[in-house]
Amino acid sequence: MKWQAVLFDLDDTLYSRAETFRKVAQRFVDVHVGPDTAEPVTAIVEKLVRWDELEPRNATSQEARQSLMDRIKREYPSITSSIDQLIAWYREEMIENLAPDPALEPVLRRLDEAQVPWGVITNGDRFQLRKISSLGLDGRPEQVILSDVEGWRKPDIRLFNLALERMGIEDPKRVLMIGDNPVADIQGAIEAGMETAWMRLERSWNQTGYQPGIQLNNLSDLLDHLD
Ligand SMILES: [Mg+2]
Repeated sequence: MKWQAVLFDLDDTLYSRAETFRKVAQRFVDVHVGPDTAEPVTAIVEKLVRWDELEPRNATSQEARQSLMDRIKREYPSITSSIDQLIAWYREEMIENLAPDPALEPVLRRLDEAQVPWGVITNGDRFQLRKISSLGLDGRPEQVILSDVEGWRKPDIRLFNLALERMGIEDPKRVLMIGDNPVADIQGAIEAGMETAWMRLERSWNQTGYQPGIQLNNLSDLLDHLD
């Protein structure tokens, strides 16, 4: 295989975060908002999805969750749980509703057969480890690099360089980084000298000045690039 190592983003790359969030938002309305509001459930779910999308992506996960829950509580004052309780509930529900992308196992099998090590590089805290566990991947990645533990966030190339160093890889050109975020994943990896594959998720590339080497409609497309 031409790759010496492969790095994956986690959220919206190894599983659909968008799909999981939607399921959790639905449960949130049932459990926390309750029947007190005349607003249709679907309208509330859409609102929560929109608010989640508006959270700044450069915030830490904890800040983003806090700001989202704060907003929800202001909109629905009848919610009695505290913000901390809501965040704890949300995190457990996310874990319970995670489902790996169906193409994940075939992709990882191909890498294992070719004895190509792979790792995860994600902006987030130790909670990301529980997601990896819940996806059935305990002990499988050679490295898991967490931004909130290391102190640098993608697209900071220091985080990518740390992954190379820990995996003992000297030539970044033989490393493929796969992710959905054009800036955090793709720009960062290009600046670190890596090859890149962008998960399109039905979007078009709209960044100027750089572009991913590979565009994937879904994770299964990656199998065409693992020869
Ligand atoms: Mg992502």
